[in-house]
Amino acid sequence: MQTFKGIKIVNGIAIGKIKVYKPAVYEISEELVSDIAAEIARFESARVKVQEDQNALYDKEMKAGHKDTAGIFEAHALMLDDEDSLIDPCKEVMAEGHTAEYAVREAFDAAAEAFANMDDEYFKARSADVIDLKNSMLDVLFGADTANLQGTEPAILVAEDLAPSETVKLDKSLLLGLVTRLGSSNSHTAILARSMNWPTLIQCHDITDDCDGKFAILDGYNSCIYVEPDQYLIDELTAKQAEDKAREAKLQELKGQPSETKDGRKVRLYANIGGPKDIAAVLENDAEGVGLFRSEFVYLNSKEEPTEDEQFAAYKKVLEGLAPRLVIIRTCDIGADKTIDYMKLDKEENPALGFRAVRICLNRRDFFKKQLRALLRASAFGKLGIMFPMIISRWEVQECKEILEECRKELKEEGKAMGEIEIGIMIETPAAALCADELAEEVDFFSLGTNDLTQYTCAIDRQSANLERFSDTHHPAVLRLIRETIEAGHRHGTWVGICGELGADPTLTEDFLKWGVDELSVNPKSILPLRGNVRNVDLSKFKTEAPKPEPKPEPKPEAPEPEAPKPEVKAEAPKPKGFFGRLFG
Ligand code: PEP
Ligand code: MG
Repeated sequence: MQTFKGIKIVNGIAIGKIKVYKPAVYEISEELVSDIAAEIARFESARVKVQEDQNALYDKEMKAGHKDTAGIFEAHALMLDDEDSLIDPCKEVMAEGHTAEYAVREAFDAAAEAFANMDDEYFKARSADVIDLKNSMLDVLFGADTANLQGTEPAILVAEDLAPSETVKLDKSLLLGLVTRLGSSNSHTAILARSMNWPTLIQCHDITDDCDGKFAILDGYNSCIYVEPDQYLIDELTAKQAEDKAREAKLQELKGQPSETKDGRKVRLYANIGGPKDIAAVLENDAEGVGLFRSEFVYLNSKEEPTEDEQFAAYKKVLEGLAPRLVIIRTCDIGADKTIDYMKLDKEENPALGFRAVRICLNRRDFFKKQLRALLRASAFGKLGIMFPMIISRWEVQECKEILEECRKELKEEGKAMGEIEIGIMIETPAAALCADELAEEVDFFSLGTNDLTQYTCAIDRQSANLERFSDTHHPAVLRLIRETIEAGHRHGTWVGICGELGADPTLTEDFLKWGVDELSVNPKSILPLRGNVRNVDLSKFKTEAPKPEPKPEPKPEAPEPEAPKPEVKAEAPKPKGFFGRLFG
């Protein structure tokens, strides 16, 4: 048995023979030709053919609902119109008397190298797109038959690397798993593998071509491939694969099913995301919305503070990509463990208790306004919720809303379109949980951030690996604060969700539902398992405990005197919970 290590991109187990995939290698003549016009015409017809192929691949992927993959081919088709980088350089080489094949190799390789030398990881990865297009152009110019490189039997494919157009052309029914010697987790092959859910390893440098035809097991759990494995491994991993398949099949059946208990109580199952790259995962896992878009990742992924337009583009992409679902975007939650150089924050003794999240936003108004303006502009493209993190006091929420209102007025004057929004806050400090009644009067929704709520309630640093023994995610104090926050929210018509890790804890699903939680927002992969849990709960046995609206306290019988202080009358009637116009109206 031989074992080859790689980097796992998609988990799972694939069992079968190896097929080593080798793309065609062409001998390109260096000899000069006399008919330059004929070479340019051959080049042009190959370019048009490849462009048509890319557009056809785009259509095919769109029909299959793979928007991310389709985007790759759309970009390829556009690249083939690029005169400056591709078309003109090819024509210049052909003008010297070289063949179309020679010109394509020279000009496309030069463009690929220029991308590869860029600092930005994203642009670096585009080098592979140019090489992919070069190979497609050469296939057409040489009239190659590229079908059947994959063989005719189901197999684990081993390749040096795979270009997107090669990956997409693969017959999925013959593909058990994928192993490449090169590739990066950012590469399109990795994106495609994730969207297709093939067990996949990249950077499996040592695997050799003589494995072709040998029996193997790709073990994503251990990031390796066993070639000619021992019988005990075959038995163990065959059983594991069967378990995976059974579990996955059961989960897939839950797509499109209501997230509803046996006795008919509905709960919204939303996803936690970090940016536009997670749209596919939200859709694949059938999330009903986004309960937490950690917008700080837009800042963390940028070398300098993102502009209003850059932020707007990211938020718009998510809102459009997931419309008509509700997308709750949390305003920038930096500080503590999430530090950003360009923010130039002072070093602190206790950063988790320091200048972070909404505290930074309220003290750096211009910084905050940039994000709020981007959010308001994006609200025209979907259903947006804005959520403020690390709230402890009512005045903070009021100040956030005032600044939001100021931005809205500015944008209105600038003639910018805006949509309806819901406003919410994270309940992730004991102060917020204990003042939930008054905070609920300010907002449409609460989202319980149980990660920080646990840290601050139990005084257990969430980053510390040494406190394991003392840490209790089910600490009664935390569970009590969760329950009381839900009840407080409901007393004021404010809906309440959970977006911390506890939301996905299957041992608590029944309690959360019993306490009346309206939404659970979890990582996309947890959506379907959680839906399974919800559908197994039967709340009818708790009917007598079902949460009811609290009756207003009766006046005490011994204090009916006319002089007795009147119950405090609020200046405004309780606000109906709703959207933009009312909030600012
Ligand atoms: C939380 O605190 O529970 C939460 C969801 O926010 P984060 O983990 O990003 O602090
Ligand atoms: Mg938090």
